[in-house]
Amino acid sequence: MAESKKQKTIVIGAGPVGTLGALYAAQRGHDVEIYDLRSDLRDPSTIPLNFTKSINLALSERGINAMRQSGRPALLEQIFKDTIPMKGRMIHGKHSSGELYEQSQVYDIHGRSIYAVDRGGLNKTLLDELDAMPNVKLLFNHKLTGADFKKNKAWFEVSGSNKIDRNREIEIDFDFMIGADGAHSAARYHLMKYQRMDYQQEYIDTLWCEFQIPAQELELGMKDESKFRISPNHLHIWPGKDFMFIAIPSSNGSFTCTLFMPSAHFNHLETDLNSVPAFFDTHFPGVTTLIQPSDLITSFHENPHLPLINIKCAPHHFSSSVVIVGDAAHAMVPFYGQGMNAGLEDIFVLFSFLDAHPTSRSVALEQYSEYRKADTHVINDLALQNYVEMRASVVSPLYAARKWLEEKLSVWVPGLGWQTKYSRVSFGNERYSEVIRKSERQGRLLSLWLVGVLGCPVLVGGLMAWRRRRR
Ligand code: FAD
Repeated sequence: MAESKKQKTIVIGAGPVGTLGALYAAQRGHDVEIYDLRSDLRDPSTIPLNFTKSINLALSERGINAMRQSGRPALLEQIFKDTIPMKGRMIHGKHSSGELYEQSQVYDIHGRSIYAVDRGGLNKTLLDELDAMPNVKLLFNHKLTGADFKKNKAWFEVSGSNKIDRNREIEIDFDFMIGADGAHSAARYHLMKYQRMDYQQEYIDTLWCEFQIPAQELELGMKDESKFRISPNHLHIWPGKDFMFIAIPSSNGSFTCTLFMPSAHFNHLETDLNSVPAFFDTHFPGVTTLIQPSDLITSFHENPHLPLINIKCAPHHFSSSVVIVGDAAHAMVPFYGQGMNAGLEDIFVLFSFLDAHPTSRSVALEQYSEYRKADTHVINDLALQNYVEMRASVVSPLYAARKWLEEKLSVWVPGLGWQTKYSRVSFGNERYSEVIRKSERQGRLLSLWLVGVLGCPVLVGGLMAWRRRRR
């Protein structure tokens, strides 16, 4: 169908990805309606759903670029007002002598940072931006319950405090639906009835639970940055072999922390809550000096222990009617800090295809789906692999040596175009599938050099010994 000025685009899900999608569509003159099952998160009485509870996220180049390209110059400015740059990881551990240590590992030799951002704050800024556009309607307490992608109709259950609206089902006509309703997407569920979609879902044996390091109370004469008990410009990691604890700064001086651990350990600690502080002392040294032992127990007991899901599917569209984006299309484990970034990037890539095919949305969607499939599959796999890197490899000398060499080569021989995989993923916009291809090539070359460097003396020594024996 040809895109006209008055195209009606409906967006399912007012999370970060859906709201950015709505903004892109509205900027192109569509009549946009955005539906979310929850009430407006700007309303203080709104309780966040469990799976959106992670308060602080790492925002990096792909997400930033997608917002930069939205055509709303004030958007990024507003979002950056409340971000904190994180220039690297801070690894926390204990020497065999019992002494605690912190080791800073900067992410990027060129000094680039990722940014800690309040998820709710980012989402609110996007909603405010949409509120200011006359061609956008925000409809909260509307849950997608059904869709016919041949007749372009969708059904919503309306809830909320208004007695007239409550428990009503409404039918909506649309030209184009963007499904951005998260990992348990209803848009994806209905799309599957129309499209021969390959679908793969996996829960990893790790649960996560949230904790808080409180801000330091400032005394008279203390500098503002003293409100942070640990460095504000790092993503803090307490690596454990099978589990890890991380902390991300908030602008009020506190840190949002997450414990990632196999379910068996959670079950074990639940049976003996008083052992939680000792468990932390053994595996995450120093944390009990930042979070009161009693608060550790309360958070462990009261905060939900949530699962981590990995979803891959393809294609992401049907005909010219619907496309799914963000977690709805590729929910991933959070270990590369890319879930939201990749979802925001979906929007930028999707609209690049739509803009390139103004007269045929079905062609645009087909090409987008084919193009994006490779990249979303790669980042899902990288996110899974990065769990091992974060909880174990960060303390391995081999990991440090490869990082050092790749970074030095990027400075000494810039013409080679070498970069670490992390830099390519977090500070650039090249396709994830390109990132992995280049990183694997670098790995192969490094192995060859290593064999050359170590192998040469052995070969020469062997030849000399052989000659001596012959003589
Ligand atoms: P969601 O944020 O899930 O939003 C979906 C919206 O759809 C919700 O508002 C929901 O109410 C609505 N909805 C659901 N069903 C319906 C329905 N039937 N009808 C109408 N509306 C519906 N990503 C990063 O980039 N960096 C990080 O550092 C990072 N850290 C993370 C840490 C943890 C512990 C976790 C769990 C995730 C993390 N992520 C991170 C991932 C990130 O949170 C998600 O990728 C991101 O929130 C996805 O956004 P979304 O808009 O696609 O979906």
